[in-house]
Amino acid sequence: MNTTSCKKCGGNNLIMVEYDRLSPEYYDGVSEIDCQDCGARIGRWSGRE
Ligand SMILES: [Zn+2]
Repeated sequence: MNTTSCKKCGGNNLIMVEYDRLSPEYYDGVSEIDCQDCGARIGRWSGRE
């Protein structure tokens, strides 16, 4: 899976998000990728926004 560019806008201004350890959605590691250009939030595992 290519995580270096946004699926939506193709931008490269992405940040990796780790959920808080107390969150029910917590994973060990990056759980989500947020695009700073278009605001898309893409789950790393699910591929969903
Ligand atoms: Zn984007």
